[in-house]
Amino acid sequence: MTAVGAAAPPGRGVAELRGQVRELTDRWLAEGRYVPRSDCWLRSFDLEFSRELAARNLIGLTWPTEFGGGGLDARCRLAVTEELLRAGAPVAAHWIGDRQIGPTILRHGSAELQRELLPGIVSAEHIFCLGMSEPEAGSDLAAVRTTATKVDGGWRVNGLKTWTSQAHHATHAYLLARTDSSGRKHEGLSEFVVDMSGDGVEVSPIRDMAGEHHFNEMRFTDVFVPDRRLIGTVGGGWRQVIEQLSFERGGPERVLSTYPLLRQSIQWLREMRDDRFDDELGELVGRLGTLRRQCWEIAEAIDAGRAPVTQAASLKYRGTAFEVDVIEFARRVGLPATGDGPLGRALSASPGFSIRGGSSDVLLSIIAKSETAEARS
Ligand SMILES: Cc1cc2nc3c(=O)[nH]c(=O)nc-3n(C[C@H](O)[C@H](O)[C@H](O)COP(=O)(O)OP(=O)(O)OC[C@H]3O[C@@H](n4cnc5c(N)ncnc54)[C@H](O)[C@@H]3O)c2cc1C
Repeated sequence: MTAVGAAAPPGRGVAELRGQVRELTDRWLAEGRYVPRSDCWLRSFDLEFSRELAARNLIGLTWPTEFGGGGLDARCRLAVTEELLRAGAPVAAHWIGDRQIGPTILRHGSAELQRELLPGIVSAEHIFCLGMSEPEAGSDLAAVRTTATKVDGGWRVNGLKTWTSQAHHATHAYLLARTDSSGRKHEGLSEFVVDMSGDGVEVSPIRDMAGEHHFNEMRFTDVFVPDRRLIGTVGGGWRQVIEQLSFERGGPERVLSTYPLLRQSIQWLREMRDDRFDDELGELVGRLGTLRRQCWEIAEAIDAGRAPVTQAASLKYRGTAFEVDVIEFARRVGLPATGDGPLGRALSASPGFSIRGGSSDVLLSIIAKSETAEARS
């Protein structure tokens, strides 16, 4: 991939960052230490790899240097994440902390919480999972029933979270919980950070249809969470989590989950000396360029201090459709579809693309509402 229009900050520019990532992924590949795969940001967990990135200061790239961050802009981070996804590298260990929990703590967390948690995310010591969804609250996230009840010095948490990616490896959970049930459902929600090693936290595996274990159920029974682990304000959880979802939806992982398969398809066509699919390939590459441009615009909005909620919803809606079309392309060009091969693995992961992080139906509704609001203003 070539860089899309970023201004290179002095000393640590986009090209240099891309080079650092390529050096690391190429070396790991040559040493046989990982197999590139689709959906690596969710499924390929390797603490050692994340710590090698951390040693190169490639986690928390946009965060202030006082917390160990790189002090660079979101476009630099975009270049790094594009390269990691392009290589299908094992990045799941640090992805959630780097992408959304660190930025949320930076936006809303107290100075104490920032000092306590950010350096550990940057060094890949703290591994985060996302405790949002519940059996009755996925698309309707405001319906969460997990409660956090005020007690002396903190909060007592009870409830069940589901589909929690990598909870079985996490040291910390982000938790959206109800702190007040008396008002409307969007009110009375608050955000917390919970220690996964604490008393009363139970994690049980959920296997996907291919038998892979990447998500889980998390049960909280009378779990004590100290006051300092509240993120932002009591009752401010809904506004805060909506912002957080723009970090979750607005990155290149909503476009590039199947990029390794696109590369393999191109390689395959070259080896077969088959040019029958050139037009289709050209269309896919054109769409990819447009989507990357959209990622770039979102990074610029984040640099300008905005939380680009609608832009991110639109990227995820269009990006996940592209990811699935890449799989269909690979199938049509004739890549073998064995269960544990690259195409088989991408196929079995694909039903989740348009669901996780907000289903496509729900994203369309967010986009339509914002268009209507703009038309009325
Ligand atoms: C691979 C994967 C990883 C995940 N990881 C995590 C994680 O780490 N942490 C976490 O908290 N969650 C995670 N999730 C959960 C994910 O965010 C939810 O599955 C998602 O928000 C949908 O919620 P639901 O499963 O309850 O489906 P439902 O909300 O029950 O939706 C079912 C169907 O109804 C449609 N629908 C629902 N409401 C509307 C509406 N208002 N308008 C139109 N259509 C509607 C949906 O589009 C969908 O097709 C993960 C999911 C997947 C697939």
